[in-house]
Amino acid sequence: MASKAFSLFLFTVLLLPLLSHGASRDTNNKKSSPFDFLKHLEGCHKGDNVSGIKFLKSYLEQFGYLNHSHSVMQNHTNDDDFDEPLESALKTYQLNFHLSTTGILDAKTISNMMMPRCGVADIINGRGGATIKIKKHDHNHGSFHTISHYAFFPGNPKWPVSKYNLTYGFLTGTTDRAMLPVAQPFRTWAANTHFTFSRAEDDTMADLQIGFKSRDHGDRFPFNGPGGLLAHAFPPTDGRLHYDANDQWSVGAVPGQFDLETAALHEIGHLLGLHYSNVQGAIMWPHISQGMTKGLDKDDIDGIKALYNV
Ligand code: ZN
Repeated sequence: MASKAFSLFLFTVLLLPLLSHGASRDTNNKKSSPFDFLKHLEGCHKGDNVSGIKFLKSYLEQFGYLNHSHSVMQNHTNDDDFDEPLESALKTYQLNFHLSTTGILDAKTISNMMMPRCGVADIINGRGGATIKIKKHDHNHGSFHTISHYAFFPGNPKWPVSKYNLTYGFLTGTTDRAMLPVAQPFRTWAANTHFTFSRAEDDTMADLQIGFKSRDHGDRFPFNGPGGLLAHAFPPTDGRLHYDANDQWSVGAVPGQFDLETAALHEIGHLLGLHYSNVQGAIMWPHISQGMTKGLDKDDIDGIKALYNV
């Protein structure tokens, strides 16, 4: 036990400098998170005007709950007014995460919002499969607990039937030690789907392109430093998977760090066409916790089988 812990420790010490891309100074301060602004807003509700509410609006806009570009009447993105659209967006967020739909930024909602997560939006183009399903159920039966499950991206994008052998490759600068942990999650998905995965002979020609990026990296979805957003991936047939280079990554469960295999298992789900699940035990739940590993859930497997009809 002790020697296993020690070898894990040794591996982590060796691995981290290779993964952190010179950002280790930044990552040492684990107490600060890009979502810290939320702490000062506890208890805020409709009618309030508190400095920092504009950041709450940006947060909800980033994950798809607020869409200002589609509404001329509600063009209040940059102010601190807790207005009607914000209350409505917050309620949808609370519904999606099984919180009490109070419309108030209460402590439980804040603690949920502050948890590190995948950067893919919960609602895309006004549509979030999981959210819409639970809303319907809520309307019909007054409960939203029983229908929770997987969802697809709007339009159900997926790989063509003939394209079941997907190749993967790594962006320039990815170290060997960061490449190794992605092999197991690919084996796990292969074991539960009709897909096979293999390393491309030429990384630049791979169907799936994996690498570490930091801050604004040119794909309209900037990362935000240690904590906050951890990784993201694009739906079929895009193939891009990015980890945030400024987060602390480990292999296996290491306190205060994020398991690369768990993150990859989640992001590969996006690459294959799964959006989020609102089953907390599913790998496609939006949050990825520090110091733990997670595997595929029946819900994830049901989801991928439903998408590909296999
Ligand atoms: Zn990216």
